Amino acid sequence: MGLLFVESLPGPKVFKCKHCGVDSASPDAIVSKEFRGRHGRAYLFDSVVNVSFGPNEDRILMTGMHIVNDIYCSCCQRLLGWRYEKAYNEDQKYKEGKYILEKSMMVKE
Ligand SMILES: [Zn+2]
Repeated sequence: MGLLFVESLPGPKVFKCKHCGVDSASPDAIVSKEFRGRHGRAYLFDSVVNVSFGPNEDRILMTGMHIVNDIYCSCCQRLLGWRYEKAYNEDQKYKEGKYILEKSMMVKE
């Protein structure tokens, strides 16, 4: 890895990685709070920052088959959630290109 560039988000209530405190997502980017992750509640975001991506994986979720990438904090490399690369069901297409962050991996400051 080269030099690490950390992006900061504006605003008082930003979601941060619980482990290293780097910014992860803005509350303005929340699409839905009605998601479940591996560890309970999870939020769907339009955009996130300071993450790196795992390889594409087929994964069967409650809403059917998807291609997803796990997303990791780019500072501490902890697993934060995943990104929807592709949804096969028409009614799930809105999730493509969006990000799940596990609530249990975040702090809001
Ligand atoms: Zn982190």
